Amino acid sequence: MLVAAPASAGPNQPDRPSRVVIIVLDQARPDTISRYHMKNVQELQRKGTTFPNAIVGDMAAETVISHNVITSGLFPKHMGWSNELYRDQDNVLGAGAGTYHVTSSMSCNDFDLLINHGNYPKLQDYLDSEFGETSSFASITQKRTSACTSGHVSGAADGTPGDPEDVILQIRGSRRTCNGTEAQWREPESGNGAPPPWIDTVTGGCNNRWWTNQDAVNLSYGTNVLSPANIYPLEGNRFVPGFDPAHIGGDNWSANAAIEEINSPSNWRGMMISLGAIDKMGHMWGPEDRGEKGAEPGSIEEMRHMPFVAKNADKQVGRIVDALDERGILDETLIVITADHAAQTGNPFFGLLAPGVANPPCGPSTPPSTGIRSDCNWYYGDEDNARQDEVYLDPSPAVAALRDRLAGNLAFSYQDTQIAAYLNDRSLAKKREAADAVLDMPGVVASYYINAAQNEYTRFGTNRMTGQERKWFDEHADELVATMANNTAPDVVGITGTDVTYGVMGDHGGSQELVQNIPMVFYGPGVSQRDSRREFRHVDVLPTILEAMGVDFDPGDLDGQAVTLSKK
Ligand SMILES: [Zn+2]
Repeated sequence: MLVAAPASAGPNQPDRPSRVVIIVLDQARPDTISRYHMKNVQELQRKGTTFPNAIVGDMAAETVISHNVITSGLFPKHMGWSNELYRDQDNVLGAGAGTYHVTSSMSCNDFDLLINHGNYPKLQDYLDSEFGETSSFASITQKRTSACTSGHVSGAADGTPGDPEDVILQIRGSRRTCNGTEAQWREPESGNGAPPPWIDTVTGGCNNRWWTNQDAVNLSYGTNVLSPANIYPLEGNRFVPGFDPAHIGGDNWSANAAIEEINSPSNWRGMMISLGAIDKMGHMWGPEDRGEKGAEPGSIEEMRHMPFVAKNADKQVGRIVDALDERGILDETLIVITADHAAQTGNPFFGLLAPGVANPPCGPSTPPSTGIRSDCNWYYGDEDNARQDEVYLDPSPAVAALRDRLAGNLAFSYQDTQIAAYLNDRSLAKKREAADAVLDMPGVVASYYINAAQNEYTRFGTNRMTGQERKWFDEHADELVATMANNTAPDVVGITGTDVTYGVMGDHGGSQELVQNIPMVFYGPGVSQRDSRREFRHVDVLPTILEAMGVDFDPGDLDGQAVTLSKK
C-alpha cells in the first residue's frame, strides 16, 4: 500500500467522497499502532486528518454499544440500549417488561427491534437518501456484536422491510457438525436474510471457503492452558487466520469478504469492516502483550499473541486500501480508521483467574456453556425469561461480596472497567446503599446512581486517585456516565481505577483515559493532511462523514457534531 496525500480537486479528481469505508480495529489504542508498527495505518495517519486526542466519548465503552454509536451519531441513552446488560423496561423484545438480557447474545433481529424502538436513522439510511434506495451498505466482521449493531436490518427507522441489497455478514458464534466431523466448523452467517451474491455458503458445505475450521487441535491453540488467557481462550480461526489455506479465518476473513464486496457489481456506498483480533488478544493477554520469547515466524506461538495479530490487522488495512485503488475508486472513497473502545491491563485484576466453570452453573445455557471463566467474571445474574435463560451464578469474590452485602437486592451485574449494577428494589435509599457498597469494592474510584426518572446520574462519592487520574476524572467522568442514562441503564455504576479490571486481563467499558483514548483517522478526497488536537468522539463520526460526503442531515437529530475535514 502506498497512497498519495489527498490532493485538492484537480481536473479528474472528485472534490468530495461518494463512498465511505469505516475500518474498526476492535480495542486498538493509539499506542497499539506505534507499539506494533502498524505501518499502513501510520501512512494513512500521516497523509490524512488524524485526531490523537480522540475518545470514545460515551459509556459503556464496548463493542456492542460503540458500533451503533458510530453508525447513528447518538449517545447510548438515545439508541435503545446503553450497556452490556439490557433491562427491557418497555418490553421491546416481548419477554416481559423489566426482563434482563445480555446484549452480546442478541440476534440481528433483536438489535433491529431496539433500533426501531429508538426510531432513528443510521448511516445506511442517510446514504440511501443521497444515493438512492438501490445503494447498499455492508457490515462485515467476525462477530455479531459488531456486525448487527453496525447494520440495520429493516433499512428504515419506521421498520419498513429492509434493503435486500444490504450486507450483514459475520462468523457464526457456535460451532457445528459437517461431513461427520463433530462441532468442528463455524459457518458464515448473514444477519439479514439471504447472504450477498458473491458468497456461496451452500456449495460444498464446510468445504466452502467461508467456513472456518475450529477442530480440537486449533480450537484454542494451547491458550486454554496458559494463564491469564485460559479464562478467555482463542476460538479457533474466528479471530486468528490459522494455517489452513482453504479456510483462512481471523481478520483476513473479514478483509477477504470486504474485498469481494468492493469488487462486486453492487452499488455499495458505505461499508463497516470491524477487525476483531486485536480485541481478542487484548482481552486474553492485556493490550500491552509482548508475545512469547523465541516464537518462530509462522508458528502457533507467534500467532496467538498481539504482536502478530496487530501486524496482521495492519496488513488487512493495506489490502482493503489496495483493493479500492485497483478498482479505481480510492479517490472517491472516504476511509475512516478508528477503534470501538480501547482497554487497560488488569493490574490489579479482580476477576477470578481460573480455567473452566465451577458450580453452581455459570454461562450461556443454549448452546451449552463452553465453560469459560471470563463470562462468570463479567456477569452475575439469571436472565430467567422466555427468550433467553443465561445463568451466571459463580461471581468473582469481589462481586460475591457485593451480592452478599446487598442481601438479595442485586438483580444483575456486569463488570469490566465499570461495575454496572441492577437492583430489585430501586428506591432512592436502596440505590444509595448500593452506590456505597460499590464504592467499597476493591479498585473502584467512584460510584453513581440513577434518578427515579432514569435520565440522570448523581455522583455518590469518590476514593483516592492519582494526579493524572483525578484530572481525567474531573474533566470527563460525569459527562461520560451521563451518556448512558435511560430506562434500560444500570441503577448504580462504579468506575474502576487506572489499570484495574474485573472481567478479563485486558478490559474496557469505563470512563478511564486508557479505555477512552482511541485512534481516529480520516483519509480521502478533500480531506486535509493534518493533526487536530480537538477531542473527537464516536458521536461525531457520523455527522463528519455526512458533511464530508455532502449528505443532508439535521444537526438537531444527532448528539455529535460535524468536524470539517477539508482545508476550506
Ligand atoms: Zn470491541
